[in-house]
This record gives sequence, C-alpha cells and structure tokens, in this order.
Amino acid sequence: MTIRNLFLLPGDGIGPDIMSEVKKLINWMNQELGTGFEIDEGLVGGSAYDAHGAAISNGDMAKAMAADAVLFGAVGGPKWDKVPYDVRPEAGLLRLRKEMELFANLRPAICYPALADSSSLRKEVIEGLDILIVRELTGGVYFGEPKEITDLGNGQKRAVDTQIYDTFEIERIAGVAFELARTRDNRVCSMEKRNVMKSGVLWNEVVTDIHAAKYSDVILEHMLADAGGMQLVRAPKQFDVIVTDNLFGDMLSDVAAMLTGSLGMLPSASLGSPDPVSKQRKALYEPVHGSAPDISGLGKANPIAMIASFAMCLRYSFNMTKQADIVEKAISDVLESGKRTADIMSEGNTLLTTSEMGDAILAQMVSLSE
Ligand code: NAD
Repeated sequence: MTIRNLFLLPGDGIGPDIMSEVKKLINWMNQELGTGFEIDEGLVGGSAYDAHGAAISNGDMAKAMAADAVLFGAVGGPKWDKVPYDVRPEAGLLRLRKEMELFANLRPAICYPALADSSSLRKEVIEGLDILIVRELTGGVYFGEPKEITDLGNGQKRAVDTQIYDTFEIERIAGVAFELARTRDNRVCSMEKRNVMKSGVLWNEVVTDIHAAKYSDVILEHMLADAGGMQLVRAPKQFDVIVTDNLFGDMLSDVAAMLTGSLGMLPSASLGSPDPVSKQRKALYEPVHGSAPDISGLGKANPIAMIASFAMCLRYSFNMTKQADIVEKAISDVLESGKRTADIMSEGNTLLTTSEMGDAILAQMVSLSE
C-alpha cells in the first residue's frame, strides 16, 4: 500500500475545530478506501508560541519539510497580539512558505449552485463558475529591494517598492498554470501591465516563449491586469486558469473569491518546485480565512474551506482525482440539500454546527462511494 505522509498544523482559534472535521474524512478514507494516509500533527502560531516560544518549532518545521503535504488551519488571535514581532503567529506561516519555497498560490473560485443567490453578482453571471487563479507568491513588489522610506530633508519623504522578476520565476509559475490548465479546460489567461511596466513586458515575453516551447496544446490569452479585473466582475465564466504576479494576484484572487460568497467556503493551495527525484512538489493547503477567534470553540465555524483545501491536496499532491471529485461533490450535495453553517445560513435552510457539517459531508461521501 502507498504510504502518504500528511502533516497537520491546526493552529489557533477555529483551526483545530475545522481540522477535526478533515480528520474524520481521512480516518474514513483510510479504513474504507485503504488510502494509506499517515498523519502527524504539530503546533503553529500562538499555540506554538505558548509551547515553544516560537511561531513554529524547528522540529515541526523539519516535519513539514519531510511531509508529502501539509494541511494548515489558521493562526492568530488577541491572546498573542502583544508577542514580539518575529515570533508573532503569522511568522509561522511565513516561515513555512519561505523554507518550503512555495512560489505558486492556487485560489479556486467555484460557485456552488446552491449558493448562487448569495453572490453580489446576478445568478446567471455566477452560476457554474469554476476558475483557478495562480498567483506568484515569493517574488515581485512585496519582496523586491530597495524597499524603503527615505526622508528627503525638505519636509518630504519618498517611499520605494521595487517590482522585480527574473525569467526563471516567470517560467516556473507559468509552467504550473499550463500544467493545471491541462487537467481542466486547457485555457490560460496571463495578466500583467506590459503597457506601463517593464516587468509586465518581460512577463508577457516569457509566458509566450514557454507556451510555444512546451505547452502549445494549451490555449493562451494575454490580458492587461486592469482589464482582467473588469472582466472578472463582468463575465467571470470566460476564464479557466488565470496566471499573474504577486501583487495583481493578491487583488484579483480576492475579487474572484468574493464573487462566490462567504470566507468560510474558500480553499487554497501553495506549491513549490517538484523534487528532482520523487517529482513530488512541496505543498501546503489552507483555508483563505483566519482563526476567527470570535467563534472559536462554539461549533459555529464553517469547515468547508478546510475540507475543500483537503480536496485540493488529494488532487494536486496525490493525484487522487476521483476521491477529490467525491469530496467536492459531497460538499455541493450537502449545500443543495439546504444544510448550512451560520455564516451561510438563509431562510428555509437547516442550521448545522461545525461537527454536524463535517458529519453531513462524510455521510454524503460514503453514499457517493457506494
Ligand atoms: P477571520 O478570517 O479570522 O474572520 C473574519 C470574519 O469571518 C469573522 O467574523 C469570522 O467569524 C468569520 N469567519 C472566518 N472564517 C470563518 C469560518 N470558517 N466559518 C464561519 N465564519 C468565519 O479574519 P480576522 O477576524 O481579520 O482575523 C482573526 C485572526 O486571524 C487575526 O489574528 C488574524 O491575524 C488572523 N488571520 C490568520 C490568517 C491565516 O492563518 N492564514 C489569515 C487571516 C487572518
């Protein structure tokens, strides 16, 4: 039997609440489908600070590096607002992203038919939406040097951020987007601002070149990022995979995500380069939302973003497409049957706790697997 090592980092606040629901799914899959997941669990964020005085211990960092995939809940909360900056809860996530070299951030925007009415867009514009934004995560203007504020001495200050991309950074993120497109509708739209930014000119050239050299079977379109933003809210269903840089990706993925409703529904994945021998990519899967301390431990958290992140893990780290499809269909079916956690509750539906939602999704998975 193939052994699949999963390292769980539930974190703080509702992190442990929602991770418990994923564990139910994993246990059932191991028992009934023989999926061979071996689970280890560590501490990150405030809970790691309380135990070790660091946002993630070196031991847990080493386990994350060695795992086939990491499932991450959420970190932070008022209890740790005053801890020193370099050991604040978010530092754990940043260390994981940096040391695992997770350069590709994947944010799907899927509109479940049952929630189409809760979008801010008209139902016909959003119903059936299934797009994937691939954002470059470790380069660009958030990291480029110089990055500074200088006092000009005349009562003025000057702020500088630097947008830098090298060819290899654009090639590897474009490669991820093209490969993912091949598993979907085979279309990539690359977004930059080549009309006003040199980094946009290079981005456009490199994406065009790597497409011609290695991925000419995929349909490639280029769009200016501002036009892309407009198209995302005008006619989002025209897109399949969108690939873009760190800054534009940050904004465009938030726009796309919120087309589909609550924070509690949004999964994400962050991927690194494939290992030269095993070909396995380092990978971390996490919901987009934070630790929601206001509802932690109250049974009010929606576990769907965490469960959908696990579905992404099945798909992208373990190539378990069938099982990933079943998890996603189970989520969709449960919503269709009118079951809701408080954040997505509306009149005429049935209110469930976190644990009841996990149970309902598992029950539907069982019935879909029969
Ligand atoms: P948040 O995402 O935790 O919560 C925002 C609002 O959405 C809250 O009202 C919360 O109750 C609700 N919400 C979030 N997830 C939900 C879910 N699964 N089900 C139901 N409702 C949900 O953002 P915030 O309140 O700005 O931040 C709270 C803490 O989380 C802070 O310490 C912040 O730094 C941290 N944070 C962590 C991450 C992360 O771990 N990746 C991301 C964002 C914020």
